Amino acid sequence: MNIAVYPGTFDPFTNGHRDLVQRAASNIFDKVYICVAENSKKDTVFSLDERIELAEKSLVNIDNIEVIGFSGLLVDFAKKLDAKVILRGLRVVSDFEYEFQMSSMNKKLNQDIESIFLTPSESYAFLSSSLVKEIAQLGGDISPFVSKEVKVALEKKYK
Ligand code: ADP
Repeated sequence: MNIAVYPGTFDPFTNGHRDLVQRAASNIFDKVYICVAENSKKDTVFSLDERIELAEKSLVNIDNIEVIGFSGLLVDFAKKLDAKVILRGLRVVSDFEYEFQMSSMNKKLNQDIESIFLTPSESYAFLSSSLVKEIAQLGGDISPFVSKEVKVALEKKYK
């Protein structure tokens, strides 16, 4: 089995995340675990349980995926799940430095696990959770960028 973990904060899950998971799960991997980080460096708007629930609701039609929360070292969690690949998205040049650093460190921590990067589909190249939150907070329409459930949840937060 060719298993990948796709880690992130997912605060909240966007159509950009979904596009990446969908392509990875249908074309490349037998199974993709969406791993929602509990101990994110970022201050999150949504709790871990909310972020998990919103990811699940945004991914209902894809079979070979599973959403799970995790804390601690990603490489250890990946090993537990029998995953040999860490999947990440690379949008713009500014993503590169951080991703390069993380993948090098993860490689040092566990040499058996490879990081693989997918670039976004064109329409999602500039989409990020933080931008979506900003637009929602300012009362803009976020329906092209997130699932219905995420839209409702964000509107509730910023009401
Ligand atoms: P993190 O805090 O770990 O960066 P995010 O939830 O912001 O978590 O992102 C998780 C992963 O999804 C990252 O690899 C990020 O580059 C990728 N990603 C985020 N938005 C998009 C998008 N629009 N298209 C492709 N990949 C994306």
